[in-house]
Parts: sequence; C-alpha cells; structure tokens
Amino acid sequence: MIQKRIKEISKEIPPNVKIIAVVKTRSIQEIKEAIKSGITIIGDNYIQEAESKFSEFHNKIEWHFIGHLQRNKLKKAVKIFDVIETIDSLKTAKRLDKECKNQNKKIKIMIEINIAKEAQKNGILPKDLENFVKEILTLENLELIGLMAMGSFTQNLEISRREFKEIKKLFNKTKIICPDLKYLSMGMSSNYKIAIKEGANMIRIGTRIFGPRKN
Ligand SMILES: *Cc1c(COP(=O)(O)O)cnc(C)c1O
Repeated sequence: MIQKRIKEISKEIPPNVKIIAVVKTRSIQEIKEAIKSGITIIGDNYIQEAESKFSEFHNKIEWHFIGHLQRNKLKKAVKIFDVIETIDSLKTAKRLDKECKNQNKKIKIMIEINIAKEAQKNGILPKDLENFVKEILTLENLELIGLMAMGSFTQNLEISRREFKEIKKLFNKTKIICPDLKYLSMGMSSNYKIAIKEGANMIRIGTRIFGPRKN
C-alpha cells in the first residue's frame, strides 16, 4: 500500500519537487517500507520519537524537524536533524546557533511563516520577515536554505491557494537578500498539488503515504 501510494504521488509531481514523508506516530516498519519505495527525506514533529528511530535510519536518509522547537530540546535536535524547518523566533535561533557552536556543527534551517496570521499559530508574520531574515543571516552556524509554512486548517482550497501565492511572493523577496534560499516547503496531503502549482518545491506528506493516523 505504502509503495503504491508513493509511486502514485511521484508520478503526479515534477522531478524538482522533493517529498518529505511525515512519520509522526508511524512504526519503524512503515518507515522502512517508505524508504524502500524511494523516500529519501523523513519529517518528524517530535524529538523524542525521532530519537528512538534515529539509530535505525540516520545514515540512509535526510531528517527534517517539522514540529515546534522547544528550547530545552535544542541539544538533541542538533544531534539528530539535518534540517530544522520551523525556526520561528530569534531567541530560539540564537540558542540553536550557540548549541551548534558547542557541538561544532552547522545546521540547515528554514523559517516558518505564520501565513494564517493567527496569534495562536507559530511562525514569523509576513510583515516581520525581512528584518528576521537579516538577523538570521548574522548567525554563523545556521544556514538558511528555505521557507516553510503550514497554512490555515481549512477544506477550502481557494484559501490555501491564496496563502500559497502569498508565501511564494515572500520567498522571491527573501531570495533577494539571501540568494542561497532554495526550498519552499508547503503543501500537505490535502493540498500539495495546489502548493506545487503555486511554487512549492518541497511537500510534506503523511496521510497520503501512510493512511489515516490512528491518534
Ligand atoms: C502532520 C504534518 C504534515 C502532514 O500532514 P498530512 O495531512 O498527514 O499529509 C505536514 N506538515 C506538518 C508540519 C505536520 O505536522
């Protein structure tokens, strides 16, 4: 089933678009099957969960952290992940930079955009992005490679499309001050086709690969 779904998705999307298999709550067996079917990037929301699976897979694939980064978990996050997609505050970014220095490691990061502009959501508001990027670029151990966004939780695909368009504009603007910016991570199982149309080159897929989550 997993293999068949991955094949179907791969056929639908352009070759430049990277699929992140989102593995929260999935078993090692399921992840193994996804990797066997060609998945090369894994996304996890939970440090603890990733840690327990890390030893099994870390050499074979790229690990992205896509959850909310708590400051007391930074040490483990730097050890486990290749990319942290959810940088959403300067305080956390500075601590992460320091932790990287301690571990003598550079880490790739992406900035999470709060595109729904809701106070309870994580991420940087579009109006604050330019200044935030400038600050991030001064941190020597962090390498900014992209932007990431969740989008509003909605069945209305036109709302999603509008948000994706806005993020793509922000991406183009940010590229002017950060030419190394490569990735735009947006779109999940319910809306990845629209996200790609609007400029995503990284999509984060859970349900569409592994089936419904049990919890
Ligand atoms: C769970 C999750 C996804 C994948 O969601 P699906 O709807 O299962 O594809 C993508 N991004 C983030 C940040 C997630 O937490």
